[in-house]
Amino acid sequence: CGIIGVLGNHQASPILVEGLKRLEYRGYDSAGIATVNGGRLERRRALGKLANLSDALVHDPLRGTAGIGHTRWATHGAATTVNAHPHQRGRVAVVHNGIIENYRALRARLAAHQLTPETDTDTETVAMLCDWHMSQGLSPIEAAKATVSELEGAYALCFLFEGEDDLIVAARKGSPLAVGWGKGEMFVGSDALALAPMTNEITYLEEGDIAIVTRAGATFLNAAQQPVSRPRRTVDLDS
Ligand code: GLU
Repeated sequence: CGIIGVLGNHQASPILVEGLKRLEYRGYDSAGIATVNGGRLERRRALGKLANLSDALVHDPLRGTAGIGHTRWATHGAATTVNAHPHQRGRVAVVHNGIIENYRALRARLAAHQLTPETDTDTETVAMLCDWHMSQGLSPIEAAKATVSELEGAYALCFLFEGEDDLIVAARKGSPLAVGWGKGEMFVGSDALALAPMTNEITYLEEGDIAIVTRAGATFLNAAQQPVSRPRRTVDLDS
């Protein structure tokens, strides 16, 4: 339902939670964040209000300056902690807004490689598929591109990778997504409002776009996965 991503110079966890708070108005049943900490992907998730996630983070803090966060409005799989995003399989963590229509067909393909789901969600399939592509030798960026090209349905997606603390791959089809430009920091949000405390320099992804985001900036691919430039705008937001 709500997505936030940060490649920052400070601890990501409070920035992610703050961004999710700004997306609360959209409604949600659970929330979670993942960070890359010393190369390792780690995540915390909680059912119900963001306060529950904040409590979980007080008891068990999540360190790292790169991260992704999500507020979920369940469509596939009950509202449970296990089904909450980020979904992680192997070296890939994913947050997702929307519905992956062909997740059953993708699951069947992965089952042929002895890969079985651990949740009831459509979203987990995206992480499974991307990790499988990496296991076949693709780089994180190439694996994310291959994965996106196989998805049917509506999505805003962010991918975060084990061992990569300066990379978020974001993709948009049917659900809005924006990249925010900071000073030596970059952000991703399903809504420019979520990014308002951090930056008002925004690039909106167009239908089918993929953004490859590092702290140095972002590059964009169109629906044919060809490089494109997308305008950077200064937006006027009340924060
Ligand atoms: N279809 C996904 C799920 O049910 C994402 C829902 C959302 O947009 O929050 O987990």
